[in-house]
Amino acid sequence: MNVPPSMFVQATTLADALQAQLRLPNARFIAGGTTTIPDQNLGRFQPEGYISLRRIPCLKRIEETADGLFIGAGCTMAELLTNPLLESQPMIRLAARTTGTRQMRSRSTVGGNLFTTRTDRTLPPCLLALEAVAHLVSNSGESRRDLGETMSAHRKRGREPEILVGVTVSRVRGFQDLMRIAPRNGGGSAIACVALCIDPRHKSVRLGLGGAGTRAMRALQAEQFAEKAIDWAGNSLDAATAVAFGEIAADHANPPVDAMGSAAYRRHAIKVMARRILEEAFG
Ligand SMILES: Cc1cc2nc3c(=O)[nH]c(=O)nc-3n(C[C@H](O)[C@H](O)[C@H](O)COP(=O)(O)OP(=O)(O)OC[C@H]3O[C@@H](n4cnc5c(N)ncnc54)[C@H](O)[C@@H]3O)c2cc1C
Repeated sequence: MNVPPSMFVQATTLADALQAQLRLPNARFIAGGTTTIPDQNLGRFQPEGYISLRRIPCLKRIEETADGLFIGAGCTMAELLTNPLLESQPMIRLAARTTGTRQMRSRSTVGGNLFTTRTDRTLPPCLLALEAVAHLVSNSGESRRDLGETMSAHRKRGREPEILVGVTVSRVRGFQDLMRIAPRNGGGSAIACVALCIDPRHKSVRLGLGGAGTRAMRALQAEQFAEKAIDWAGNSLDAATAVAFGEIAADHANPPVDAMGSAAYRRHAIKVMARRILEEAFG
């Protein structure tokens, strides 16, 4: 890494990191570095300094709160797999387990996975389906926002840099699962993925999509359709509903084109996976 020592700050508190950001306004926050360093080495950007968040203890917290489960942005995928509190969130565990290789999982953080400009990351569709709330801090103070809004606002030109402190996910008592299609079963980003949460008590369906747009997104039209079409009293679903659910999710997607897949391939994958995961939810 060709960054002079004066341009690398190892912060140990959030206040340190924010102070450093005032001194080095064009420096980047860095956590595990598994996206940032490859991007730098591929010449996608020239670093004007780094502010490391890795040694800030409060970013590593995982705890039950009155609002749900708080997961610190500095937690690694490996920590999500071993922390017993995550047993109540099987979809997050599955997302962590399918992220990269064992070595990658011991460095890759939640914050780095969410605060990226890529659409192929594993956690964002899951956390969108779980309606996660983001906890942020900047030199203007602390805030809490919907995660989807936070991810789309992140890195907008002229916007003050914010540190993601963590996310809170509420307890879902119902079905939750993730399906993804990737070049390999492990060790690589997804070409497309779908994350579904169903809460029968509130008759709610939440579908997060990856590889369906420039960023992870919710399939709002498909969700609304399914909420009306599901037989909640009988806890059942007819085959036509599942097919239409997949089609609506795919129709409202605007998938990117890259070396991993065409837009048509991704749309087809979303259609099939959304149908299958809804069928799975109703046995
Ligand atoms: C070989 C390989 C395989 C991979 N496989 C997968 C995979 O299967 N699934 C997947 O989803 N990803 C995968 N990735 C991508 C990457 O490892 C993950 O997205 C990882 O979670 C990024 O976390 P990080 O801490 O390393 O991010 P970093 O590189 O440290 O940071 C990424 C971005 O997030 C910002 N950032 C980090 N933390 C914060 C914070 N707390 N507040 C504000 N901004 C922050 C940084 O400024 C930077 O812009 C893979 C990468 C490689 C190299």
